[in-house]
Amino acid sequence: ESPEALNFIEQIIEEDLANGLPKDKLRFRFPPEPNGYLHIGHAASICLNFGLGEKYNAPVNLRFDDTNPAKEEQEYVDAIKRDIAWLGFKWANECYSSDYFQQLYDWAVQLIKEDKAYVDQQTSEQIAEQKGTPTTPGTASPYRDRPIEESLELFEKMKNGEFEKGAYLLRAKIDMASPNMHMRDPILYRIINAHHHRTGNDWCIYPMYDWAHGESDYIEHISHSLCTLEFKLHRELYDWYLDQIYDSANLRPKQREFARRNLSYTVMSKRKLLELVQKKVVSGWNDPRMPTISGLRRRGYTPDSIRKFSDLSGISKRDNVTDVSLLEYCIREDLNKTATRVMAVLDPVKLVLTNYPEGETEILHMENNPELPDSGTHEVPFSRELYIERADFQEEASKKFFRLALGTEVRLKSAYIIKADSVVKDDSGKITEIHCTVDLDSKSGTGTEASLRKVKGTLHWVSIEHAIKAEVREYDRLFLDEAPDSHEDKNFLEFINPDSLNVIKEAYLEPFLANATLEDKFQFQRLGYFTLDTDTTSDQLVFNKTVGLKDSWAK
Ligand code: ATP
Ligand code: MG
Ligand code: MG
Repeated sequence: ESPEALNFIEQIIEEDLANGLPKDKLRFRFPPEPNGYLHIGHAASICLNFGLGEKYNAPVNLRFDDTNPAKEEQEYVDAIKRDIAWLGFKWANECYSSDYFQQLYDWAVQLIKEDKAYVDQQTSEQIAEQKGTPTTPGTASPYRDRPIEESLELFEKMKNGEFEKGAYLLRAKIDMASPNMHMRDPILYRIINAHHHRTGNDWCIYPMYDWAHGESDYIEHISHSLCTLEFKLHRELYDWYLDQIYDSANLRPKQREFARRNLSYTVMSKRKLLELVQKKVVSGWNDPRMPTISGLRRRGYTPDSIRKFSDLSGISKRDNVTDVSLLEYCIREDLNKTATRVMAVLDPVKLVLTNYPEGETEILHMENNPELPDSGTHEVPFSRELYIERADFQEEASKKFFRLALGTEVRLKSAYIIKADSVVKDDSGKITEIHCTVDLDSKSGTGTEASLRKVKGTLHWVSIEHAIKAEVREYDRLFLDEAPDSHEDKNFLEFINPDSLNVIKEAYLEPFLANATLEDKFQFQRLGYFTLDTDTTSDQLVFNKTVGLKDSWAK
């Protein structure tokens, strides 16, 4: 492999290996906070960390960064595990920052004893006001020089639940004049009186992200702690915290940053996705319009397509937005190779073959997937009365209309050539039946002269007598704006697309689809890729459109 082929994170690792880091010391982690479901942005971090694990044969921990009980829940822990496993990755250890609460507490006590931390009793607003600006130093808290003994006593009382929320905080004593605002006596612990999904009511003080994260990396012997760019300025603090507890006999973790993955026409922060769920803009975290892993799965995306998308979008040093059409490209490519070809009519009009014997059913054999060798065939019934798409017929053909019109011919996919003779209309003038003659010698695959005859259009169809009814859901983008959360003067909710869901109550499918399972992927010929939805019941099939056959947004 040429060095050019390495992304910049791999280059850092290669350099560390070249400088003497033993290969068996490599260890990575994916550290979600269980405060929501994973989204396609997390997939970037998952594919990066687990991808490094695969590349270097190194363990990857799944670490739940569960330090804020007010927002975290077991439901999210379960969903996160399900999604990572579905993507096809295996973690070496399932870890929780909360498992280290005692160790983190003990280290905090040590900091106080070394005069590197103190208990403050100002409000967080007061503390924020004293922070200063990047160009002017902050003001020291009046409690900064509180005697060590007093801080130790107060911190213990904080831990024992003797104070109200917000009454006291533990702060690191670093440098109120540091040009890095994160170094101006950052908060280490705050009081939160909430039930924790794992530690219950054992704790009422909880560590802040920076304190918990780096020390957890150290505890787990993580060699490279990869996080997103917004933590770049935190790195100095990450290192300072490590300095306080680091024993040179151990591995020293290293934080490095990469750009967040953003996707056009959606939002990605869990807080905003939660808002969509709570405001019922969507049906839940796994609504097929959501950019969550569970939403994409329900929509019909495959793990391969998401991993491919991560590969193609790459790891970047600078913030950028990936166009959602790349994600659609990845699933389309994948499904083209794997989806079973079937026929379904979403907007039916009846077609009668007037010279075809009444009551007769022919069984045709249709190829499951021309792209997939040995994928076999399945049976499709053909009869005198069929449904075709309403849009596939016009009484009078315009120049560019190659579908069916009065007096013209088309082929019915894998069946016969037909010619439209007349229509039946209801009182409002709407066409209710199209009467056609079928060329009985033209059956596909028979090798007769008539069967080889070329006609301009080929239509999909279903036999009315054999068709099964289903609900079909089609989706459009959830937001009308390319970057809905980038507007200073407008809330992202103002850009919701009111027509992102189109429900077709009565679609007609070939009977083969009666046995579809949630894992099956289909191409409804000429319409797109579809998969069964989890709302399906024993008497109601529901299908989701995953993506169209081509990029309908390309100009
Ligand atoms: P959100 O704002 O969506 O809640 P987060 O960063 O707070 O994101 P975490 O659960 O803390 O979410 O993320 C776990 C890991 O995934 C972190 O290492 C984080 O940097 C990474 N991550 C989160 N969102 C993205 C993204 N859009 N692109 C790449 N990595 C991401
Ligand atoms: Mg977050
Ligand atoms: Mg986070």
